[in-house]
Amino acid sequence: MTTHYFDHAATSPMRQAAIDAFVEHAGTLNPGGQYGSGRHAGSVLSDARETVARLLGTDPVEVVFTASGTEADNLAIQGLYAASELNRVVSTPIEHSAVRDTVNALDGAEVALLPVTGTGHVSELSALDEPAALATCMWANNETGAIQPVAEIVARAAAAGTPTHIDAVQVVGKLPVDFHALGATTLAASAHKFGGPRGVGLLLARRSPAPTAILHGGGQERGIRPGTVNVAGAASLAAALEESVREMETEQSRIRELRDRLRERILGQVDDVTVNTTEPALPSHVHLSFPGAEGDSMIMLLDSLGIEASTGSACSSGVNRASHVLLAMGVDEHDARGSLRLTLGRTTTAEDVDYLADRITEVVSRARAAGMAA
Ligand code: PLP
Repeated sequence: MTTHYFDHAATSPMRQAAIDAFVEHAGTLNPGGQYGSGRHAGSVLSDARETVARLLGTDPVEVVFTASGTEADNLAIQGLYAASELNRVVSTPIEHSAVRDTVNALDGAEVALLPVTGTGHVSELSALDEPAALATCMWANNETGAIQPVAEIVARAAAAGTPTHIDAVQVVGKLPVDFHALGATTLAASAHKFGGPRGVGLLLARRSPAPTAILHGGGQERGIRPGTVNVAGAASLAAALEESVREMETEQSRIRELRDRLRERILGQVDDVTVNTTEPALPSHVHLSFPGAEGDSMIMLLDSLGIEASTGSACSSGVNRASHVLLAMGVDEHDARGSLRLTLGRTTTAEDVDYLADRITEVVSRARAAGMAA
């Protein structure tokens, strides 16, 4: 059965250019070695670093390769907190667990959350006026796609002397990113969201204030992320980023058109649907609630038809709980449990959209007939 993949926000298939770079450099040795093969690995790594710096508006020295977006978020948040004398932290109620759980685990932190509106956008920024060890906000939400006012957040925090971490995992490779123009202190990204390999991330970190080292070891990556660097992963990330940025404008408008067509076809035929994705939002996302249909039932029914999608809320325990993002937006728990996140990407075609649109009514009505779990 052909698969119709609608989970690009979870992970996206690797680009051929990224696979080629990965294969080409898979055999590179330790870039720290002071001999020919080490120098070769070091030069592949520094080419990747320079490419990333050029594409993301930063200096090569500010590029730290990590093992995931999650690791980048942890190194920045824990590291900026450790570097400060203050124990106040400003965050939002809609962060990915890589940020949310990290903030909640900070020892002795007093956390202030910026409120969000019913559209899933951070709105009222006055909590940023009181100095804090750090402020942290995602650039775009992984569930709804809602784009947050990060430039205003960074500026408002900076006015109080607070450094800001931006989780840009959903944005890098999709929207233009200029780290210096944004003025953030740190920024996290992840290669597998833009066609690079899974298990390779990025932290952009200004020279000052720099996060205090959380991991200890051989001092690689400015000591912020010690450990022998994954050179093939870095080269592959850079190749994926280069291609994503080159195609960004045409590709994002193609995806937006397909996403709009999908949304309109669903709204035109299914009763009682709420759209939880409101502009400004990523062109790839449409997040919907179908009250009375259990999210997990819809996922399983879709899967049996070769359609791969997600409820949007991370559910590693296998228990379908209402998403904290939707609850923060004021969606009631019953409706939140009937959610479906459809995310489009580079490989999505009009045929995929029509295949899904032709089957969604039947899927929702079967899920509604099955009813909600207790
Ligand atoms: N932050 C956001 C907003 C994400 O969407 C994700 C992944 O889903 C992460 C962080 C974690 O990235 P990674 O999978 O590379 O650890």
